Parts: sequence; structure tokens; C-alpha cells
Amino acid sequence: MTQVKCIINSCTHYLYGDRCGARNIDIMHEQETAMSQNVEQTMCKSFSHNDHLMNYLGSADNVNWGGTAMGLVDPAYMVSPSISCTVSSCKYWGEGSLCVANAIEVNGLSNSNECQDTNCGTYERRS
Ligand code: SF4
Ligand code: SF4
Repeated sequence: MTQVKCIINSCTHYLYGDRCGARNIDIMHEQETAMSQNVEQTMCKSFSHNDHLMNYLGSADNVNWGGTAMGLVDPAYMVSPSISCTVSSCKYWGEGSLCVANAIEVNGLSNSNECQDTNCGTYERRS
């Protein structure tokens, strides 16, 4: 399973230690009609800003509850979501919306406000 590291600490799913407590994350092209050509044109669509209680409630159905609980108790626990990725222009993309990289890093603006501020930092353009 692909390990996910994420530095977007303004997301409801962010866990201390740059971990993601979501059950699944959707990595997508930033623009629906254009294939991503670089890291900045990708995004984590599962981002939900942690500035409002309603966002926690809205994203509650995508929480890895067991992993998050373990992750909160143990900062070293390797909690990681599954990945569904539509960025088929990436060399790590596999049929069935799979990511075949061993690990990815989600990054972007440190104070991300919306999913478009985030990136899959592991994206590499398919040759
Ligand atoms: S931005 Fe994406 S990868 Fe990062 S914590 Fe949020 S849902 Fe997880
Ligand atoms: S590394 Fe590539 S295939 Fe994997 S999640 Fe990122 S963009 Fe998608």
C-alpha cells in the first residue's frame, strides 16, 4: 500500500507527524478539462479546511477512525489512507485509478484554504 505523507496542517484530516487520517484521498487534476503537466496542476480533492466545525462534520464519513485513534495515541503509528487518483499523466498512475508509487507526499501552500492550494508532490510527468 502506498504510504501518504502530508504537510497540509490546515486540513481536518491532518495528524501530527505529517500523517493523514482520512480513509481515502482523491488526487485529481486541478482543472477538470486539462491533464496535469506538473505538480502544481494536481490537488488533493479530499482537503477540508479545519477552520469550521461544519467541515469536520462534513468530512467525518471519510475518517479512518481506527488509524486516527492509534495515530493520536502513538505519534509514530503509520496511519495512511488509500488513494484514488485520476492523474493518468503521472508515471506512477495505474489502471483503475491506482497509484503505484511506494509513497507520496501531499504538499502545497502551508496555509492552504482550498483543495486547489494542495499538490501531489510526487507527481512525475509520464514520458
Ligand atoms: S490534504 Fe489530503 S492528504 Fe493532506 S491531510 Fe488532508 S485529506 Fe489527507
Ligand atoms: S504520484 Fe502520481 S499516480 Fe500517485 S497519487 Fe500522485 S499524481 Fe497520482
